[in-house]
Amino acid sequence: MSSRRGNEAEAVIFKDGVYVRGVSAELVLGLSALDSAHRELTGEAVTVTSVSDGRHGNKSLHYSGRGADVRTRHLSAEERQAFFAKASDYLPEDFDLVAESDHFHLEFDPRGRLP
Ligand SMILES: [Zn+2]
Repeated sequence: MSSRRGNEAEAVIFKDGVYVRGVSAELVLGLSALDSAHRELTGEAVTVTSVSDGRHGNKSLHYSGRGADVRTRHLSAEERQAFFAKASDYLPEDFDLVAESDHFHLEFDPRGRLP
């Protein structure tokens, strides 16, 4: 695997140009869970490809700092599956993880539990 800074990184890697303004504390915890799962499987940090930048659906939680995408296109189908399972296992409650074609979408969505 040929991640740019992979093995030396000590934290989640952000792709150049990723805009993190307004990112929620909860989302950071979720990304940390994904990073742990990714490291256990690949030995490398997870790469965040989008937070509050880019184009997403109208009501996307990306815009409120509660949604992020992480790269999966470097993984085989089996690795993706293993990453999804482990990441889902590690995520705290109220996170949704969605497998898209070349990335996983993560969002913190407490669904009506907030006032
Ligand atoms: Zn997304």
